Amino acid sequence: MARDTGPDCRRCRAEGIKLFLKGERCNTGKCGVVRRPYRPGMHGQSRVKLSEYAIRLREKQKARRFYEVLERQFEKYYSMASHQKGVTGERLLQILESRLDNVVFRLGIAANRSQARQFVRHGHILVNGKKVDIPSFLTKVGMQVSVATSSSEMVKNRIAAATAPRTPTWLTFDADHLSGEIKAIPSREEIDTPVKEALIVEYYSR
Ligand code: SF4
Repeated sequence: MARDTGPDCRRCRAEGIKLFLKGERCNTGKCGVVRRPYRPGMHGQSRVKLSEYAIRLREKQKARRFYEVLERQFEKYYSMASHQKGVTGERLLQILESRLDNVVFRLGIAANRSQARQFVRHGHILVNGKKVDIPSFLTKVGMQVSVATSSSEMVKNRIAAATAPRTPTWLTFDADHLSGEIKAIPSREEIDTPVKEALIVEYYSR
């Protein structure tokens, strides 16, 4: 599947936030946003006044890049959210959070969403005991997400080498059995994604 490529840290700096694309490095002083907190390029340090449209566009791009989702798929999620009950912006984030690659990352099985996507594609991840190799698979409350027995050693080594992940309150994780469960749909307060979703709604409502 096609996806955004290009230097990861440059993408973070372009959005002015940490997108956590590089795993452990993102939490250290080596992070590009920490070392060079300005936009990349020749005019990166000059002040630019964004138009109202550009502000909303940037917020949408920020969310899209955070979850590493392509434009068309992001539009599809927005359409789904706008047809569901509840606050559209919050629903959009909840849908993005329910993607299998995101859940694998949030559980701490993978260091970042790229690695999570790779684990899913390579058949290392099971949902309710059955292999699911589609990173965009949308999980539901009550589903079990686990690591295939044949891959458990590899994943355990990765977890051991990483700093302990903070499992969000809407998930549970059993590190011994490499198995987690989706306990609830996360509320906005439980989603740490640094975007203003109201601006994304305004972007699509223009
Ligand atoms: Fe982004 Fe920092 Fe991670 Fe680089 S190290 S991908 S700048 S969060």
